[in-house]
Amino acid sequence: MPDQKTHKVAVVAIGGNSLIKNAEHQSVEDQYDAARETTRHIADMIEAGWEVAIGHGNGPQVGFILRRSEIAARVEGMHEVPLDVCGADSQGAIGYALQQNLQNWLFQRGIHKDVATVVTQVLVDRDDPAFQKPSKPIGGFMDEGEARRRETAMGWSVVEDAGRGWRRVVASPLPKEVVELDTVRALVNAGVVVITVGGGGIPVIDTGNGVYAGTAAVIDKDYASSLLAQSIGADLFLISTAVEKVALNYGKPEQRWLDRITVSEAKRYLEEGTHFAKGSMAPKIQAIIWYLEAGGKHAIITTPENIGRALRGDTGTHIVRDRARRR
Ligand code: ADP
Ligand code: MG
Repeated sequence: MPDQKTHKVAVVAIGGNSLIKNAEHQSVEDQYDAARETTRHIADMIEAGWEVAIGHGNGPQVGFILRRSEIAARVEGMHEVPLDVCGADSQGAIGYALQQNLQNWLFQRGIHKDVATVVTQVLVDRDDPAFQKPSKPIGGFMDEGEARRRETAMGWSVVEDAGRGWRRVVASPLPKEVVELDTVRALVNAGVVVITVGGGGIPVIDTGNGVYAGTAAVIDKDYASSLLAQSIGADLFLISTAVEKVALNYGKPEQRWLDRITVSEAKRYLEEGTHFAKGSMAPKIQAIIWYLEAGGKHAIITTPENIGRALRGDTGTHIVRDRARRR
């Protein structure tokens, strides 16, 4: 069947700054306000004709849910909430804030478009080497005794964290497949704005013959959004974060902001290792490289408020395929 799409499709990955502006603004109401601000710019995109699928982070939110669970267990003996379920909870709550705000903006503009959040699982490889060296700290601090008890009783990996106490660490495996992909694709093709792969998706493994089970891990949200963009053949992969542009030699005297680079240049800069910080910008650049190498056309990194200007080519860092540059 011929492709029925009349509009271009964008995957927009929104970062932590779209939900929590700073340490003084972390309440649910503050997060709602931040979501309202970011979704305004996404509504602009939609008004300009884009079909949009939204991915988002959930690090602090999962941290809050886990902490409530731990405190409730300690104080009242309530059951604890497993990490994959915390991820599902966060997808629902964050999706709700984004979905309602976006619906309100679209309604105000007279745009008749549905918005829906899909609780999304992402398949990871149970043999992913990341499971051999869990590195992502989650949840609160413990003393050594409790850390050791949980290590034995619950199979947790625990580490001593820079003299501050003991913490649980989990693996950060690579995303292999968006489990609800067909649903997401059908919704996008039907003109629905979809919020999906929240927090990188709920990590699940195939325990055999396609039987999925949640696993205590964390998937990078930029990687998961990249996989989504590749899987639905998005025309644009836009990463909305706290910086208007990406820099070379970030934070150093010789820092230089980038307007437009090719995928080859991106790979070279990433390999040089000095430009993009490991836990923040490097995964975004890697996510974009994977998207472009899989046939993607155009990727942008910018802030929420600069999305419109970046789409007009006036700002942001644009990463394109090698050939496109000479045009
Ligand atoms: P998000 O929640 O959107 O994933 P991150 O904090 O993980 O945000 O990543 C964005 C941050 O990366 C920026 O706010 C900036 O401080 C940092 N960063 C690291 N290296 C660079 C770079 N080379 N250019 C621009 N920003 C960089
Ligand atoms: Mg990040």
